[in-house]
Amino acid sequence: MAERNFDMIVIGAGPGGYVAAIRGAQLGLSVAVVEREHMGGICLNWGCIPTKALLRSAEVFHLMRHAGDFGLSADAVGFDLGRVVARSRKVAGQLAGGVSHLMKKNKIAVVMGRARLDGPRRVRVQTDGGAEVLVGGAVVVATGARARDLPGLEADGKRVWNYKHALQPPHMPERLLVIGSGAIGIEFASFYNTLGAETTVVEIMDRILPVEDEEISTLARKAFEAQGMTILPKSLVRNLDRGADAVTAEIETGGKTRTETFDTVISAVGITGNTEDIGLEDAGVRVERGHIVTDAYGRTGVDGLYAIGDVAGAPWLAHKASHEGVTVAELIAGSSDVHPVAPESIAGCTYCHPQVASVGLTEAQAREAGHEVRVGRFPFIGNGKAIALGDPQGLIKTVFDAQTGALLGAHMIGPEVTELIQGYVVGRTLETTEAELIATVFPHPTLSEAMHESVLAAFDRVIHI
Ligand SMILES: Cc1cc2nc3c(=O)[nH]c(=O)nc-3n(C[C@H](O)[C@H](O)[C@H](O)COP(=O)(O)OP(=O)(O)OC[C@H]3O[C@@H](n4cnc5c(N)ncnc54)[C@H](O)[C@@H]3O)c2cc1C
Repeated sequence: MAERNFDMIVIGAGPGGYVAAIRGAQLGLSVAVVEREHMGGICLNWGCIPTKALLRSAEVFHLMRHAGDFGLSADAVGFDLGRVVARSRKVAGQLAGGVSHLMKKNKIAVVMGRARLDGPRRVRVQTDGGAEVLVGGAVVVATGARARDLPGLEADGKRVWNYKHALQPPHMPERLLVIGSGAIGIEFASFYNTLGAETTVVEIMDRILPVEDEEISTLARKAFEAQGMTILPKSLVRNLDRGADAVTAEIETGGKTRTETFDTVISAVGITGNTEDIGLEDAGVRVERGHIVTDAYGRTGVDGLYAIGDVAGAPWLAHKASHEGVTVAELIAGSSDVHPVAPESIAGCTYCHPQVASVGLTEAQAREAGHEVRVGRFPFIGNGKAIALGDPQGLIKTVFDAQTGALLGAHMIGPEVTELIQGYVVGRTLETTEAELIATVFPHPTLSEAMHESVLAAFDRVIHI
């Protein structure tokens, strides 16, 4: 069987794998990437990008329906779901094509096929045309993750959808049940609710967006309820009875079980790593709860074998995967200055309306960790740009260590906060304290002024409230 040699072999061309490959090539390694399905992975094809394209359509639709608020008129505002979806698919396709171009530009060998570890530093690829073996100095597993199915709630693509189905819907939901209120569930709830679906969200935890600061979760719930959603925290979908045109859900909520009928259900109960059938067991790699166990540098404990991105565990975010890709490539290339991922400085963003974004410790986590905290809050209703935009809902909350002034966490809900959060992320990387943030001049009028004011508020110096 044909064998080819490379310094680095990457399995999976998602944002973890393709970024690792590019960084490796930049550092002079000969690199091969094996991909079984689509360049760009889940993120570009079925995740981050196509969802944002859908949400943008929903945002424009919302604005058009409120044209009168801006002194404009837009009559007979409507939508064509097929064209909304077609745009989302086109955007995804454009970006996936861009990844192929980047592979070529960086002289990375792309092998389309299914990869499996075949002994130390060897990967066997099953392609349409047969099989080939790649032999490498190092192998990086970046096989990503897929939607988790719970017994009884399995997606079937008809009336019960996972994220892939929800991204190319066979019909427009009229009565929609979303199971799970993490970022994926809430983004789809926001999209379909904005387009007019009567939407119910069921969450097993005591609040929606459960990883966010409690105050932000509470504000998000209020905002979604004001938009007409029904939110059921501390609730559980026990069973789905599937008919041709409807699904009857058994929902345990408030100590009672009730049945409700929906025409569509989206199951967004989490993801699980693609760890099967790639030879991890034979290689001696530790897999726990669906994810490969690694150290902070992506090392699996097996010589020459690394794992990055979703398959290596939480947080399941594209930018975390990409950063890990850079880290392992630099390690493999022998760079002396390799920075492992600091999970506490990775921002999480949810692109619902209003948007939600955060980095670092929540107020509760900071207190639990033993910090004496100073907390600042600034509402967007006090921000000129937000008012001019016609979207002054939400707030920015900052959490500082009272002794040192270190910025422990930042939590936001409101307009464009998914863009704003990066300011605090940079601050955390620079190990900023309140002193630098207070001394920074923020441009006017911008939404970012609310970031400044939140810091000022934490130190009793807020100006505009
Ligand atoms: C609906 C949705 C919305 C999301 N939105 C966001 C967001 O806004 N922001 C964000 O940061 N994250 C978001 N995510 C998460 C993000 O998509 C993932 O964190 C990211 O894709 C992980 O990158 P990865 O490289 O680890 O894996 P993936 O992107 O999953 O890529 C893995 C690749 O490996 C390939 N593969 C698997 N097994 C093999 C094999 N044996 N041989 C060859 N190839 C193989 C797969 O085909 C796939 O292309 C979203 C996810 C979903 C589902």
